[in-house]
Amino acid sequence: MPASEGTKKTVRTVKRYKPPPIASPPVYSVEVACPLCGHRAIDISDLPSEPIAVGMKCPNCNNIVHFQCAKAHASS
Ligand SMILES: [Zn+2]
Repeated sequence: MPASEGTKKTVRTVKRYKPPPIASPPVYSVEVACPLCGHRAIDISDLPSEPIAVGMKCPNCNNIVHFQCAKAHASS
């Protein structure tokens, strides 16, 4: 008579799913200072490879400022 049959305990290892830690994205943001007041106007992330002209209203001095954004450290 197989005594082990039926008395087998099913051991379940319940592993709680741990979400992987959120990797902080690489910091590509570039602070762009307002050419008029010198304060930080915006942070730009994901700079395009082509230089782009940005015109915006500075939140500090409320002037419309224009500047160019490009990758400063392009490997060339
Ligand atoms: Zn400004």
